Amino acid sequence: MGATRGRMRVGGFARLMVVGVMLCGGAIFSSQAWADDFIAVGDQPTVLVGDVAYLDADRFFSRYGLSSKGGAKADAWTFSSAWTTIELNADSRECRFNEQRVFLGSGVIKREQGLWIDRVDAEKLFAPLLKAATYAASVRPVRKIVIDAGHGGKDGGTRHAERKLNEKTFTLDVAERLGAILDQQGYEVVFTRTRDEYIGLKERAMFARAAQPDVFVSLHFNAAGRAAVKGVETYVLTPRHQRSTSSAASDASDHNVESGNATDPWNVLLGYEIHRALGKQLGAPDRGLKRARFAVLRLAECPAVLVEAGYLSNDQEAQKIATPAYRSEIAQAVATGIVAYANTVLSVLPRP
Ligand SMILES: [Zn+2]
Repeated sequence: MGATRGRMRVGGFARLMVVGVMLCGGAIFSSQAWADDFIAVGDQPTVLVGDVAYLDADRFFSRYGLSSKGGAKADAWTFSSAWTTIELNADSRECRFNEQRVFLGSGVIKREQGLWIDRVDAEKLFAPLLKAATYAASVRPVRKIVIDAGHGGKDGGTRHAERKLNEKTFTLDVAERLGAILDQQGYEVVFTRTRDEYIGLKERAMFARAAQPDVFVSLHFNAAGRAAVKGVETYVLTPRHQRSTSSAASDASDHNVESGNATDPWNVLLGYEIHRALGKQLGAPDRGLKRARFAVLRLAECPAVLVEAGYLSNDQEAQKIATPAYRSEIAQAVATGIVAYANTVLSVLPRP
């Protein structure tokens, strides 16, 4: 987190891509494969509540072999199969996907004795996690990975003042550790920075675009006003027509198309796998897979994720982050998540 993560306008660029075809890392994404398409949802009927189109969760999830438990009086509903358990709560934006905390774009509603979910959540969150193969046309195998160590130079990021711990130092350290692991596993690794220097957000994004990677991961540490807050958050780009997790109300800019939205389904899968691996490896509180329109995510041209690997404002967590052993664990977890994502991608592509 920190002051440098402001919003940047991309002006006509995003609009230009809607009507065209864009070249991304050698693969071509047709404009038809994203933006307002509902490939998985199809023609399932929706009802408009406020400005959100809702669909019947039971009917949607049954297509993936999930059956529901819950009732007209219950607010907590579970949809499950042999492999997957999704826990939803009426009037809540928070859910559990295989016990992992995930934030929806819109609160779930109770209607006609069932639960209804935002059509965008169905298409851009649940469908990719339930059946990635649906989106095979818009992904390519993972070969090159850009690692972005957050902050640097005059921008120190967050800090633990008493202990003199700076976010920028730890993000660079974790980036190096992560790069070494991925390099050893045969991936091509590119860093946005390899020393203590200031690089603007747009500059990072443009640098990443030029490298044409298959995955972009930005590494950060967090801070909160309340010192008790600790744990791990993973961010992926907010889909079009939804508000970000931290936004209380929708905004006109929610309807903009960002270049990062071209890979919406894969952003979620990448974020989910990394967040799951962090949860397993670190044992830190699960603060959830969240949505935000951070500049590096908006401007990305490949699946992208931003990791907040712990709170420097929490004394206990800051002490852990200050140890090389814990930073290695973070790097290992992010690598594990990326490899899991890469394997999912391989499993849906036709064999060469
Ligand atoms: Zn940061």
